[in-house]
Amino acid sequence: MNLIQHFVAGKHLSGSSDIRGKVFDPSTGEQISEVSLANKVDVDEAIKVAKKAFESWSVKPALQRARVMFKFKNLIEKNSEELTKIIVKEHGKVYEDAKGSLQRGLEVVEFACGIPQVIKGEFSENVGTNVDSWSMRQPLGVVAGITPFNFPAMVPMWMFPIAIACGNTFILKPSEKDPSCSIMLAQLLKDAGLPDGVLNVVNGSKEAVDAILENKDVKAVSFVGSTPIAKYIYENAAKNEKRVQALGGAKNHLVVMPDCDLDGAVDGLMGAAYGSAGERCMAQSVAVAVGEVGDELVSRISKKVENLKVGPGMDKNSEMGPLVTKDHLKKVRSYVDLGVQEGADLIVDGRNLKLQGYENGFFIGGCLFDNVKKNMRIYKEEIFGPVLSVIRVKSFDEATKLINEHEFGNGVSIYTKDGDAGRTFANKIQVGMVGINVPIPVPMAFHSFGGWKRSLFGDSAMHGTEGVRFYTKLKTITSRWPSGVRSDPEFVMPTMK
Ligand code: NAD
Repeated sequence: MNLIQHFVAGKHLSGSSDIRGKVFDPSTGEQISEVSLANKVDVDEAIKVAKKAFESWSVKPALQRARVMFKFKNLIEKNSEELTKIIVKEHGKVYEDAKGSLQRGLEVVEFACGIPQVIKGEFSENVGTNVDSWSMRQPLGVVAGITPFNFPAMVPMWMFPIAIACGNTFILKPSEKDPSCSIMLAQLLKDAGLPDGVLNVVNGSKEAVDAILENKDVKAVSFVGSTPIAKYIYENAAKNEKRVQALGGAKNHLVVMPDCDLDGAVDGLMGAAYGSAGERCMAQSVAVAVGEVGDELVSRISKKVENLKVGPGMDKNSEMGPLVTKDHLKKVRSYVDLGVQEGADLIVDGRNLKLQGYENGFFIGGCLFDNVKKNMRIYKEEIFGPVLSVIRVKSFDEATKLINEHEFGNGVSIYTKDGDAGRTFANKIQVGMVGINVPIPVPMAFHSFGGWKRSLFGDSAMHGTEGVRFYTKLKTITSRWPSGVRSDPEFVMPTMK
């Protein structure tokens, strides 16, 4: 059985723990690899390596760090086919979607190539007579990233390229369900010239995460995953005096206004609800039908869901792949059962889908509920599968109120031709990422990604300038070079003259 090891100090190592996790091919249901799961000793060792590497990496000129990123970018492009296939193999999403997610990660590397420009400080000459003041941003030290299964390349790349370009060293703890992509990215970064120990990947689960949270040498933690774990990370990282940004789960709404281009809204919803089998934190899992549009929306979308081509990720005809694990398939199915019990109308039922030749794969067909109510658990909770709920409301105001009252606030969209409705929506909605006639409003690398409410614990979103701020601390210097005339001590609050 193939063994996925850790990557520490530039070497592939199994670590001291003999506990192993299982990695599956979700389309066949077969186990394809084992993964070493780190214990506290393994994690502490990796942190020690990263702390040592920080001494020389942090003092390298930003331009030299950027040059490593330029080479890394080239290597990702050269190896994109292999990286994409690894994503498909371990996660299950379809090939083109996997390729797109790699591209979105690559764009953060491109942003990190510009680090000499974005990390620049500010300078004020003569803030007082012959007194100058400037501020600069310095790296924190060893920082860590803990990432989810659903974007095995993109989410780690939201974090480590910027952290490293800022002069930090990094411990990456990827999802134990699909860890191979992170290992390959670390190897490519070494090939690009990154000194050993600057990026270390430790595989593991709770024990490894707790070791990161408890280690005093880790100065900041970036987390992306489900809300209960995000809250746990936020509380425990803060308790141990670390900086923390912890992105959690979501329940995203797409508002369909009666005046909108309905074909555009239906196509947008299909990709946003069923793409990547709904395993996206930006998946639109609730369609809010405003006014009279509900019947026509459900009629059009149900035909498309019934005809959704479900199959293995490497099959060019597949529009939607399997779910990541058997347990997750069980969870998603049980939510569909729950929706029926709660009284929602199950318009398309994908629960009994069987694919010839892939009977053991973790597949479920697209599911569509109509007349979902706001007190139902299928509306309140994140399902993270290909299940779209249609909820009907009378007005724009009712739609915005519904969304603003939801516990999550990651992404949201509105489809309308009315500029006033679009603008008011963007202004009033209590959600971090907003689309207007755009189904999945994922910000580009040079903006920042992050939700509101229980979708993000902490103050900073990821990547872009928010990422640079998160991975650096501000220092402000005020200086005077006296020309030999010593002044008497002053005992009052200094004001600049
Ligand atoms: P998860 O919370 O189960 O796992 C995320 C990470 O936390 C993994 O590395 C895992 O090993 C670790 N972990 C799991 N249980 C832990 C525990 N008890 N203690 C400490 N660490 C633990 O999430 P997942 O299932 O891998 O990913 C899906 C979730 O991630 C969804 O809720 C999705 O919305 C969310 N997500 C959010 C965003 C965002 O930007 N807000 C992006 C992608 C995914």
